[in-house]
Amino acid sequence: MSDTGLLIEAMKFAAGRHSGQTRKGRAGEPYINHPIDVADTLVRVGGVTDAEVLAAALLHDTVEDTDATLDQLATLFGDRVSTLVAEVTDDKSLPKEERKRLQVLHAPTISDEAKMLKLSDKICNVVDVVGKPPLGWTDQRRIAYLEWTARVVHGCRGVNQRLEECYDMELTAGLKNIPGHA
Ligand code: ZN
Repeated sequence: MSDTGLLIEAMKFAAGRHSGQTRKGRAGEPYINHPIDVADTLVRVGGVTDAEVLAAALLHDTVEDTDATLDQLATLFGDRVSTLVAEVTDDKSLPKEERKRLQVLHAPTISDEAKMLKLSDKICNVVDVVGKPPLGWTDQRRIAYLEWTARVVHGCRGVNQRLEECYDMELTAGLKNIPGHA
């Protein structure tokens, strides 16, 4: 498959799998906007041009949040894309707090490409939690979430300076924006 073909197929697959799902913010945006944002941030901020990494970004939540499987991704998009998605997929059988603890622990052990994907994912999540907060989240919960992303990002440093700088800027600006942060 050509690089552009791969990207279109990945976008189509992700859009199909996430159909009916919405983001947690007030506007109820379609979920697919998030993986598109993550891929866009990799390109625009990170300067990433590797189509398989970008396809993995488009697909990064399909195994965690839909009934898609890693085997399916391997068949449709190849082993490298499937492995990248596996590296950024939480084990949903574990309780949420344990999954969050493991993300911090595992981040330094994943591949450089998966670290870039995770950096981009955390940038997008910080921007969303600051600018389009999930319904029902208190300021304290938003601050705790941002502080957790910083611990995950700590383990992803050293692979893409522009993504790191963008994350640091968004985090600092975000924390300033949320009332109640000392
Ligand atoms: Zn994500």
